[in-house]
Amino acid sequence: MDNGLMDALVLHGVGDLRFAQVPIPTVSEGQVRVRIGFCGVCGSDILRIFSKGTYSFPTVCGHEFAGTIVECGKGVDEFRPGDNVVVFPLIWCGKCAACESGKYVQCNDYDYLGSRSDGAFAEYVVAPKENIIRVPDGVTLEEAAQTEPAAVALHAIRRVKESLVGKTVAIFGAGPIGLMVAQWARIIGAAQVLLFDIVPEKLKLAQRLGFECVFNSAIEDPVEVTNTQTDGNGAHVCIEAAGVPETYLYALESVRRGGSVVLLGNPVADVTLPASLISQLMRREVSILGTWNSDYSVSGNDDDWRTVLQAMASGTLDLFPLITHKVPLVDGTDVLNMMKVKSEFYAKVLIHPS
Ligand SMILES: [Zn+2]
Ligand SMILES: [Zn+2]
Repeated sequence: MDNGLMDALVLHGVGDLRFAQVPIPTVSEGQVRVRIGFCGVCGSDILRIFSKGTYSFPTVCGHEFAGTIVECGKGVDEFRPGDNVVVFPLIWCGKCAACESGKYVQCNDYDYLGSRSDGAFAEYVVAPKENIIRVPDGVTLEEAAQTEPAAVALHAIRRVKESLVGKTVAIFGAGPIGLMVAQWARIIGAAQVLLFDIVPEKLKLAQRLGFECVFNSAIEDPVEVTNTQTDGNGAHVCIEAAGVPETYLYALESVRRGGSVVLLGNPVADVTLPASLISQLMRREVSILGTWNSDYSVSGNDDDWRTVLQAMASGTLDLFPLITHKVPLVDGTDVLNMMKVKSEFYAKVLIHPS
């Protein structure tokens, strides 16, 4: 801070991540500077750092974060230093048709903190005041740092327009996002939430969160399990939350007549659909829904982000058990490498300034 420098994990090229000192970003009019409390590691960060790269180098990754305002630029009257806040990491253009209708994640000329611009694997981030929401009292920065993925999970469930009350929701993939979707399904009133994964620790974590219908798909066939649990009818809603060919097929094969399949996981490979399955999806008039990112509103109160923060404040959404690692920036490279090679079990990994 003294010399105008801060710690950060700087990505210089694919796989070339360095703990370094970089200039502290300065605020312009209408912006705030946030000292990072915690920044979660997203699956997409691992892909960016180790295989896909970012739009330009060097870049600081990290888009799931919460922190405390330390400086407000000119024209920022809504916030004050000391406010705990979360930051919507997508900076929209404000000029395109999508922006005009408030669908910021569909903006066709956006910037993004943590991929196109510098993000929060650092001590400080600067963001426009329009992207800031105050964290409610009683919500910790560890929880608030999970607002972004929890909003993504909520958005996926909200893509299904029919009420979930009394319904069966089957989730294929029990990573952090899958477990968040499961919590939303329960909050919204699903009678039965079925969770599938092949990693026993993930299934144990799901049980700790109070989910009883948890199955290892390496041992039990998810399609059979879903049919058994639903009197042979299939699930009303199937959520694909792993992005691997098997889980796409499970989700599409396990959905009932008139049901919905939501595609949420980041696809990692091509998928081949048997003609018989396509025919079944047609006959069953299944809705296949894409979901992308989350809805954010500058002044609304029921967008995905505010709904998440309210659910955290009321205690209905419990994200603490998901945190398996809290790591200082200086050890960030090690933990990201661990996640890449999966040498330890992890769910949500949080990185914080030293
Ligand atoms: Zn993410
Ligand atoms: Zn736009």
